Amino acid sequence: MGGQAGFRIVAEPGDIVFHEGDAGHCAYFVESGSIEVAVRQGDTAVPVAVLGPGDVLGEMAMIDGQRRSGTATAQTRSVLLMITRDQLSRRMAQSDPVLRLCLSVLVQRLRQASAHPGDRRAAAAPAGEHGRVHDALLREQELRQALAGAEFEPFFQPIVALATGATLGFEALARWRHPERGLLSPTAFIAIAEASGLIAAVDRQVQHRACQALARLQAVRPQWPPLFLTLNVSAQDFAEPDFVQALRDMARETGVDPRRVKLEVTESALIADPDAAAARLRACREIGFGIAIDDFGTGHASLGYLQRFPADTIKIDRGFVRDIAGEAKNRVIVDTILRLAEGLGMSVVAEGIETEAQRRTLAALGCTLGQGYLFGRPEPEDRISGS
Ligand code: C2E
Ligand code: CA
Ligand code: CA
Repeated sequence: MGGQAGFRIVAEPGDIVFHEGDAGHCAYFVESGSIEVAVRQGDTAVPVAVLGPGDVLGEMAMIDGQRRSGTATAQTRSVLLMITRDQLSRRMAQSDPVLRLCLSVLVQRLRQASAHPGDRRAAAAPAGEHGRVHDALLREQELRQALAGAEFEPFFQPIVALATGATLGFEALARWRHPERGLLSPTAFIAIAEASGLIAAVDRQVQHRACQALARLQAVRPQWPPLFLTLNVSAQDFAEPDFVQALRDMARETGVDPRRVKLEVTESALIADPDAAAARLRACREIGFGIAIDDFGTGHASLGYLQRFPADTIKIDRGFVRDIAGEAKNRVIVDTILRLAEGLGMSVVAEGIETEAQRRTLAALGCTLGQGYLFGRPEPEDRISGS
């Protein structure tokens, strides 16, 4: 074959990319040119495909570790990018078990069909994956049922003025009221909800109910100054095409005043496509919603992003608050965030305040808002309304 520089291969006309029967350690992505694939039948080679830019070849042997089922020859000068088994394995390991299982069964079926045309016996799934896949499918099914049965509800954690301890608003935090397992916290279901693409539906169920609750809270406690509510938004929901419309619908259906509601988004949801994210946030602002950057400092967004996104609040992650009374470094970080926020006209909420020493230190640094077990744990609506 022609030149080979790292993972990019140049094949001249007539060069063999791989032979039928070779061990296959990699596949190829065709960047340019054309590659013919032929299969031996008796003494003749029968062309079965011609592949061009954007096509992939050699993937079967790489996936199932068996031999090449055809010979690939460059017809014109071609540039190929290698996909090694190692590259694939890493991606597969991170991927969903259902996807993994279906892919390997598919390859086996394809091989079986090309080796024994007409043989319709089902290929067996590779050992080892059954349990995981069964489990994942069951849990996903359970999650769908839970959504249909409206088993997700918000708990409310107060957000207070650090100086006085007065409750100014609440963060809505999802809980799953499981019919058998009882009350489940997000760690028990967020990962599976994300993997199955159901997290946006969970978000919306929780948000809807939280907005309805806000109106009730305000009605039973008319002496409370108008409270605000913050809602967690997953990266997946944020990326949904109907995200903004769904919020508009929610405001209309629940009657909540969007100016009393802040959306908590994480840096990771914003940096995937910063321009689209900024446009989306502007649309939310136009409806009236506030925007808070959640878990600030734990993502990979640079500070430059802050002025780009129309956010009005920064939530300092619990990780920086934990050692703030003892660790000078964390004090410097929090101090810097506070000054940055002030310069940009944003407010700051410190999360995870558990001790009086943390409260005092934060207040002394000029942080005015906070949230944490010191002031209140997340509780169901009837507990915070006192009814
Ligand atoms: P988060 O948004 O950072 O929420 C704060 C978490 O810290 C909550 O955990 C809260 O209960 C906990 N927390 C509050 N104060 C303290 C404290 O003083 N000490 C300690 N150790 N923890 C404290 P929770 O409720 O288990 O929620 C965990 C995460 O799950 C949330 O982190 C959020 O990322 C996610 N989540 C919760 N509700 C929703 C939801 O409706 N939608 C989405 N997409 N994610 C949600
Ligand atoms: Ca949050
Ligand atoms: Ca947070």
